[in-house]
Amino acid sequence: MTMRSAIRLSAAVAAVGITAVGCLNSGWAYGVDPTPAPKPTPKATSTSAPLPTPAPTPAPISTVKPAPKPAPTSQIPRNPVRTTAKVVYLTFDDGPDPRFTPQVLALLKRYDAKATFFVIGASAKKHPRVVQQVRRQGHALANHTYSHPWLNRLSSAAIADQLRRTDAVIGRTTCMRPPGGFVTRTVIATARAEGKQVVMWNADPKDWTRPGTAAIASRVMTATRHRSIVLLHDGGGQRAQSVAALSQILANLSAQGYRFESLPACRVPAPNPVVKPAPKPVVKPAPKPVVKPAPANPAAAE
Ligand SMILES: [Zn+2]
Repeated sequence: MTMRSAIRLSAAVAAVGITAVGCLNSGWAYGVDPTPAPKPTPKATSTSAPLPTPAPTPAPISTVKPAPKPAPTSQIPRNPVRTTAKVVYLTFDDGPDPRFTPQVLALLKRYDAKATFFVIGASAKKHPRVVQQVRRQGHALANHTYSHPWLNRLSSAAIADQLRRTDAVIGRTTCMRPPGGFVTRTVIATARAEGKQVVMWNADPKDWTRPGTAAIASRVMTATRHRSIVLLHDGGGQRAQSVAALSQILANLSAQGYRFESLPACRVPAPNPVVKPAPKPVVKPAPKPVVKPAPANPAAAE
């Protein structure tokens, strides 16, 4: 990961940590207390990089013509220096869900889009095939805790347990996102000690409130600019609106020249190939001289 992306991601954490309330009522019952959670500590990150200069607001979704089907990869000219390319990071929380995650994957595939899936360990354990599908399609898998508790109410040890149990199901992850966006210093410090970066978002259509497909899509289109991190949900409840909106989002953003990538910080490098040490030459001990016992007297044996 480049220094610039590290700063940008930290900026995303700092920028939205205060108001983040994604998937508060997204249907997850694990450890959910009906009373409103306290506001997370403001400015929880040590880095307070300046916010990126907002790009001009994209045209409203209604004026954007439907995008044609993306050209096959072979027709896209390969340019090694992509100085003008715009990137958007789509992220999906609360999956995997056997109903909606495969639909999301099919749409992403159509646009050659890569995304980041913040999965819940308990769901991943129930639906290992869906997790495999996500992995095989080349998306990044990240940690959204095991049972979706509000981490600002947990001890560091309990937070670490949530992260470790999830990694035990989906493999090592380098990113985590706290449920409900409740990020505290303890959450950040614990995540770091567990080898994970806390990743928030800066484009939130609140799809989990099911405001309608058009509303979700237009909110994303309005909020998205180069290197935005978009928060959507592929699990934790009925997500048909999110899936339908994703179809529009992919069409419209790709028509505007955006590419869709997984978050660099969340891409887990493949483990180094195991190099076996050269086998040591086996030194066989010299065979012991076999001393044959003198044949017994056959006559005596009778
Ligand atoms: Zn969530």
